[in-house]
Amino acid sequence: MSLYDNIRRVTPYVPGEQPAGKVIKLNTNECPYAPSPRVAEAIAVCDAGRLRLYPEPDCHTLKESIAAHYAVKPDEVFVGVGSDDVLALAFLTFFAGEKPVLFPDITYSFYDVWAELYAIPYETVPLAADFTLRPEDYARENGGVIFANPNAPTGLALPLSGVEEILAKNPESVVIVDEAYVDFGAETALPLLKKYENLVVVRTMSKSRALAGMRIGYAFAAKRLIRAMEDVKASINSYTMTTLSLAAGKAAIEDEDYFQQTLGKIIKTREETKASLQKLGFSVTESKTNFLFARNPNIPAQTLFETLRKRGIYVRYFKKPRIDEHLRITIGTDEDMKQLLEELRCLSKR
Ligand code: PMP
Repeated sequence: MSLYDNIRRVTPYVPGEQPAGKVIKLNTNECPYAPSPRVAEAIAVCDAGRLRLYPEPDCHTLKESIAAHYAVKPDEVFVGVGSDDVLALAFLTFFAGEKPVLFPDITYSFYDVWAELYAIPYETVPLAADFTLRPEDYARENGGVIFANPNAPTGLALPLSGVEEILAKNPESVVIVDEAYVDFGAETALPLLKKYENLVVVRTMSKSRALAGMRIGYAFAAKRLIRAMEDVKASINSYTMTTLSLAAGKAAIEDEDYFQQTLGKIIKTREETKASLQKLGFSVTESKTNFLFARNPNIPAQTLFETLRKRGIYVRYFKKPRIDEHLRITIGTDEDMKQLLEELRCLSKR
């Protein structure tokens, strides 16, 4: 028996690099534009003296503005420290049975980390060869289902009918739909909330609302499910959201015009970049996100990744089965993408 026998050892999720200095950062799906100017105002008027007090434990101010924006009730909303926190709590709350939880073999690589950490049994379900998700594969006994829609890193979206099929086939399991990227053009499962009490929709302000640094995530579900999440949260940490993040989140959600403008710019840049990559010989999936999932038939993805990195352009490369010939490229500004494409053009000519 040694000291180390009593210590939990886990293999953690490894996030994309956050390099210091001036680089073109297309590796963690951040927004290339600043958050709404209303966020800066909301932070500026926060009285530092108030920081001696704990923040709202029930986060009601932020929940109320999220609820009003999406036309649901505040008790159907949960908020957390980025959607990673919301998802981790959802795993802990909803996947407490003995049957395996199901998720795709290619998806957000945090899901298996949480399952391992909480000793939740799970099985991965292979996506089709073209990376699409087949809803019929989820019509079997399970202890819960989670999938990202649109999926990461493929960028592909499942139509609402497919999401509904999974919900309808699993009335006894909680089905979590991770909609981190939904604002960039996919169909949301929110309209299904009234019909399916097993649905949990998870969102983030890190991507479409440009607040990755503030750490704000949220979820929608029937009141009973939200209550269960709140109880688990309150058994770990009563005060997850800071006074500043509550104020910033409220300001961001209330500035619809700015939100739509930012989305419009990113989607336009995405489609232009996709066309340019295709001209260079890349195959690119039909992304409904703020990133592209691309493969060059002639140059290994790892070579592209390493060469770009040396030139100060950071993209994401996953050395994993089935996707180790692809790069995931976040949509930056038009100027960022111009520089990326120039480098890729030079590399293609070599
Ligand atoms: N879900 C998916 C599919 C993601 O790609 C990410 C970003 N890494 C997250 C959730 C978590 O984002 P955040 O914690 O910043 O909300």
